[in-house]
Amino acid sequence: MNTGPSYANSSPSNPTLGEQRVTGDSPRTDARPDTAAARDAGRGAIRRLDVVVVGAGFGGLYAVYKYREMGLRVLGLEMGGDFGGVWYWNRYPGARVDLPSLDYSYAFSPEIEQEWTWSEQFAAQPELLEYFAFVAKRLDLRKDFQFNTRVNGATWDEQRALWVVTTDRGEVFEATYCVMATGPLSVPKDPEIPGIERFKGQLLRAARWPHEPVSFENRRVGVIGTGSSGIQIVQEVGKQAGELFVYQRTPSFTMPMRNEPLEPDYVEEIKRHYAGMREIARNSPIGGMRPQSSRAFFSVTPSQRRQLMEDAWNAGGLVLLGTFADLLVNEEANAQVADFVRGKISEVVKDPETAEKLKPRGYPIFARRPCLDTGYYETFNKPNVHLMDCLTDPIVEITETGVRTQAGETALDALIFAAGYDALTGAMLAFDVVGRNGRTLKEHWKRGARSYLGHMMEGFPNLFLTTGPNGPAALANIPRLSEHDVDWIAGLITHMRDNGLAAVEPTRQAEDEWMELVHMYSQRTLLSKANTWYVNANIEGKPRGLTLFTGGFQKYRELCESAVRDGHRGFVFEPLQRALAA
Ligand code: NAP
Repeated sequence: MNTGPSYANSSPSNPTLGEQRVTGDSPRTDARPDTAAARDAGRGAIRRLDVVVVGAGFGGLYAVYKYREMGLRVLGLEMGGDFGGVWYWNRYPGARVDLPSLDYSYAFSPEIEQEWTWSEQFAAQPELLEYFAFVAKRLDLRKDFQFNTRVNGATWDEQRALWVVTTDRGEVFEATYCVMATGPLSVPKDPEIPGIERFKGQLLRAARWPHEPVSFENRRVGVIGTGSSGIQIVQEVGKQAGELFVYQRTPSFTMPMRNEPLEPDYVEEIKRHYAGMREIARNSPIGGMRPQSSRAFFSVTPSQRRQLMEDAWNAGGLVLLGTFADLLVNEEANAQVADFVRGKISEVVKDPETAEKLKPRGYPIFARRPCLDTGYYETFNKPNVHLMDCLTDPIVEITETGVRTQAGETALDALIFAAGYDALTGAMLAFDVVGRNGRTLKEHWKRGARSYLGHMMEGFPNLFLTTGPNGPAALANIPRLSEHDVDWIAGLITHMRDNGLAAVEPTRQAEDEWMELVHMYSQRTLLSKANTWYVNANIEGKPRGLTLFTGGFQKYRELCESAVRDGHRGFVFEPLQRALAA
């Protein structure tokens, strides 16, 4: 077994050494045995690192900064052409975050908090990209990232206790740790409709939007999908298109965003009090500053409830969701709030038949991710906008010239897909992850994603997930959760460096117990009662089930911290000496 010097030189306990470059085709000078993965992809140089971070969104950017500050040799790999993660790709008209920007931003750097100023309450996609660019420049991160690079394999080298990461450029990276900051929503899907490849008009995808502007003036445009993305597209494209045809299968509940420019005085006030507000966010169930009432729906009189709902509707954003504590556990309370929102649709949409079709029924409000809009329902009062109800008239196929439903064909110049994502697991399963004894992640997740603490999997040592499945991703503020996850991983790496440990992984028992806990919490919510990406219902053949941790962000943090405090409960470590002697 390998006892070559290079492993010792590049061990995490000796992070200051320069990077070693070994040409795959040339004779090796370090006497390390080649690995199958390295040989297969060995067209270029092998670059030795301490950490490979995959992804350049909120998690990836902070991870590279944090681990670099710890003295580790770290490289970020990103498929997109720049920073931003999901915001790099989603350039569709009207793309905008649905959490307040003051909350949907980094908290780890007081300098960045003070120096950056958001212009609107809910930032539009271009401003989010500017923010990423600002943070990257401020922290000098560009030199530590490689863009336009797709990871196509990660294989654990048991003998040398490191990951061999290969890319579509034929590169090989070897790293002690792999941190997958691949994000919960990064692999978009097309609708499962025959004939997509035949369409001769312009085909656009929300999550792969072109960089150049697209004009819809005087054109006949179709949109398939009415989730958060579709709703934002429809309200914008409806203003421009000659004719807009909105193909809706399941109507979503959407509430007014009521976006506004941020007043400089208010921003200054926030900046003065940021530290305390962030602390409150970190200790909340959603990891955000949005008020979460402890009031049960039926604890107040019917007229008070009505008034509270009206106030929340007028306040905008997701205030309604936080107005009562039991909306995701009490079906009757949930039904009354759903009725209230359906009533609002009737107040806005002039044609009663269209209003009825837009009203979501058959699943609890907030069990699908709630959407925020700016004039979505009003859009259907425009004479050029047509609601195509796929429940009563399903799409049969896409033709060369448009979309054919059972009732007939509609000719289109452009067709937009906003059909969602292979969420939570899609990015990790898009390439081959091979752990101990050749076991793949695909096998490990055959019956659904499983992990310990949402961070690590048994049999996949030194491989970490941020905002992974089985954590609170999608239900918590992503910047807060990303920061938590990156810091937690940093703590574990520090522990390993301080104690001469080469590898860490959870036990099978710890993983089983975590999944039982995730399952136990999931039984308590109504989130499973809608066919959504939360429960993998949007991808044919994907194991069904709510694998998100629904106990709240604060509880999640406590559980991650207590595992560490209790002597790293549930983890097994491999000493450096043993790995070297092996
Ligand atoms: P989504 O919520 O999964 O919505 C996909 C839509 O496509 C659904 O309406 C779905 O209908 C429809 N669809 C899929 N296949 C179809 C078919 N064959 N025929 C007709 N309709 C079909 O996806 P998304 O809108 O991209 O949103 C995903 C998540 O991204 C959101 O939940 C949110 O977390 C995030 N997001 C956030 C923002 C923001 O911050 N503002 C913006 C966009 C997205 P069915 O439900 O009937 O399958």
